[in-house]
Parts: sequence; structure tokens; C-alpha cells
Amino acid sequence: MYKIDSQKAEEFICHEEILDTLEYAQSKSQDKELIRSILEKARLCKGLSHREAAVLLECNDPELVEEIYRLAREIKQKFYGNRIVMFAPLYLSNYCVNSCTYCPYHVKNKTIARKKLTQEDIRREVIALQDMGHKRLALEAGEDPIHNPIEYILESIKTIYSIKHKNGAIRRVNVNIAATTIENYRRLHEAGIGTYILFQETYHKENYEKLHPRGPKSNYAYHTEAMDRAMQGGIDDVGIGVLFGLNTYRYDFVGLLMHAEHLEATYGVGPHTISVPRICSADDIDASTFENAISDEIFQKIVAVIRISVPYTGMIISTRESQRSREKVLALGVSQISGGSRTSVGGYATEELPEENSAQFDVSDHRSLDEIVAWLLKLGYIPSFCTACYREGRTGDRFMSLVKTGQIANCCAPNALMTLQEYLCDYASPETRRLAEDMIRKQMEEIPNPAIRKRALENLERIAEGKRDFRF
Ligand code: SF4
Ligand code: SF4
Repeated sequence: MYKIDSQKAEEFICHEEILDTLEYAQSKSQDKELIRSILEKARLCKGLSHREAAVLLECNDPELVEEIYRLAREIKQKFYGNRIVMFAPLYLSNYCVNSCTYCPYHVKNKTIARKKLTQEDIRREVIALQDMGHKRLALEAGEDPIHNPIEYILESIKTIYSIKHKNGAIRRVNVNIAATTIENYRRLHEAGIGTYILFQETYHKENYEKLHPRGPKSNYAYHTEAMDRAMQGGIDDVGIGVLFGLNTYRYDFVGLLMHAEHLEATYGVGPHTISVPRICSADDIDASTFENAISDEIFQKIVAVIRISVPYTGMIISTRESQRSREKVLALGVSQISGGSRTSVGGYATEELPEENSAQFDVSDHRSLDEIVAWLLKLGYIPSFCTACYREGRTGDRFMSLVKTGQIANCCAPNALMTLQEYLCDYASPETRRLAEDMIRKQMEEIPNPAIRKRALENLERIAEGKRDFRF
């Protein structure tokens, strides 16, 4: 039985409700009047239910699909402006006891080089990341209680925050590790993590069990209820996602939105971010064997409908996506991207490319962070290295209420420009620097509040003089 605020996975992600929703969406896919009324509701920026969103996803009328895209662009602009937050993944260890059939770290893969970073290795990786200009990381590690216990993750977080190389600093560490206990989530919270990220992979229980035949991750309920335990452990910024292509995209799309609704209904705060990875090839994994892999067109539609269904939730894509694909979805709703990523363990401190075979997936976008920053600037976006909110205690429902009232924009815009100024002073190539200076000059004039503009201008000067880490 469907129960939105139940603590049981099979009640808040109710299989029958998803099937009913898909049937309803199919039956209404030609109902232009209904679709227009859903779009009118979406225009209020208060979000849509999973049923309404599913109807939009089914719509194939070219005029209405164009309307969906137009609205997604408008909502993106309203909440996120032209800012794109930058981050990089940091792989700590690829030891894993699980058997996920789509991931080369699965326990039976004997061809992959297994690696785990020591604290000294982490220091080298973090210095390399700081020297690129990164301020925000997503930690990644396989599940292995012997090689990667929680104590190792906690020690690594401490090491990362402690490293101050030249003007560099990692100011926010998001963590993507296996589902764990409330107690361990509490310890992660106390270690000062930003967002706890865990992908559901697929919400379809039967397929989930086939895709995860052995290991702790094979427990569907334990995995699906992880965000509830994270919230109970005090983490109020959580990031959800599915790996599109493992199962039919329609099913997982509805499951994803039901998960977001469940968190909002139960804890008063929806997910901080939604990630939209797609299945791709890697060592021992051939993406073409996944019959549910989705086209670029479907992918763009998914991004657009998520954008208008959960306007307050940041959306993330990785370097799995090509430059072309990234460019399309940035306009439609994505607000965070990784840049200059290495998906192998220890990949930043070494110069080797293509990556040796300890990588989790093949990267499609191989450009350096500087190239990505320049590319974003040329497209009219402001690359932002901002990490201000969690450091100012703006997390969970406090963060969401600022987003919902639109007040957060008063912080995001100047913070984006100040952190871009830091980037151009410390790391940018001459060409990127020129583009960034132009962008900062133009965008400063757009800050509506004169007091904030004045303070931001003063801070820009202080950054040029060598001072760092200003924030609103
Ligand atoms: Fe391990 Fe995660 Fe890969 Fe599964 S997806 S094999 S849990 S690293
Ligand atoms: Fe994100 Fe907060 Fe910075 Fe805005 S001010 S970019 S919401 S961290």
C-alpha cells in the first residue's frame, strides 16, 4: 500500500502506485488540456506530483514538449540564474564487496587494479585538486568493511579539510558511500560533510535484486531507506539519483520523484540534489548490453521535467556526459557539474591519460577544469566555486526556506562572482582570466541590492590583494 511518510521502502516507493501512475500517464499523454493545466501549475514554481510529472514525460506533442523545455529554462533561470556550481569527484578506494553488474568495481572483477589511497596519497590528490582550483569534492568509495571502514572515511575527511596548499582549500566535502547505520551517519555529520549522496540505481525491486545479486547492497529495503537513516542521524542535505538505463526510465523517473516527495513529507525537507547519471561503458562493462539505455532526447526531457517538478533541488551531471550533451542539459536544469574529473583511484596526482584500469566509468568529457571554466564563460554561464551555505549553517529546511522565498539568490550571485575572482587570481589561464574578468564586471552590475553589491565589490578588491574566503 502506498504511504508517502512510511519508513518502509516498499510503502513509500510503492510498486503498484508506480504502475498505476505509468498507466495514468499513458492514458493522459494526448490530453492537451490536462497537460496545459499541469504546465500552468508548474509555472507557480511549487513543484508537481509524481503523477503530474509522469504525464509531462509521456507527452509527445511537439508544441507542448517545446513548452515544457521553455518552462524548464525559465525555472532554471529564476532559481539558479546563469550560475553553475563546480565540483570534482575524489575516489578513495575501489575495493568493494558488492556485485553490482553495471560497475567495474564489483567484487568478481579480477582484471581491475584495486587501490586504496593512504592519507599521504590523499594529501597528494587534494593538493592536485586544489592546484586546479577546486573547492568542493564528492568523495567516492566502494563498500568494504575491511578496506574502507567508516573510520577510514572519517580520517580521510579530516585530512582533506586540513590541507591548505598555497591559496587552496577544500571547503565542502560531499560523501557518496554505501548505505550505512544511523550511528555512522551521525559520525559523518559530525565530521562536517556537506551532502550525503547515494544513488538508488533503480527503484524497481525485482530488477534491483537481479542487478545486485550478492553483498550488503543486495538488500533493497536497507538501501532504499538509507536517506531516512541519514536524516535521523542529523544529515539534512541528501542527494538522490538513479542510474538511467538499468531499468525502464519511466519507472525510475517516477520512483525518483516519489523518493523526493517522501523525504519532504516525512522530514520537511526534500533532497538537496538529484543526480542524473546514465549507464556507460567501463572495464568489464559494455553499456550496449543494457537494453534500457536512453537516448539524448529522452535524457533531455527527463532533465527538463525534473527541473519543473522539483524546482528547489539542485541537479548534477558528471563527466560521463559528453560536452554536447552537457551543453544541452545545462540550459534545461542542471546546476552543478564536475570538471577535470578523474574516475580512477589516485588519478589526479598522476599525469597518465587515458586512465589506467582502476576507473569506475569512462569519462566522455576529458577537458581540464580551466577549459571547462572558459567554455562555461563563453556560453554565458558563471562558473561558481561557492560552498557558502553549509559553512554558514544554511542546510536542510533553513536552506530550503531561503530557496523557496527566492532569498538565496542574494547570496548565490555575489558568492559565485567572488569565488570566480579567487579562481582567476590563483588558477586561470590568461584566456580564461580575460573571460572571467568580463563576466564579473558585467554581473556585478546585475546585483540588485546596492548594499550587497557594494560589499561584494569591496571583497573583489580584497581578493585581488590576496585575501581569500569571503562569503554571504
Ligand atoms: Fe561497489 Fe558501488 Fe560499484 Fe556497486 S556501484 S560495485 S557498491 S563501488
Ligand atoms: Fe549554493 Fe548556497 Fe553558494 Fe548559493 S550561496 S551557490 S545555494 S552554497
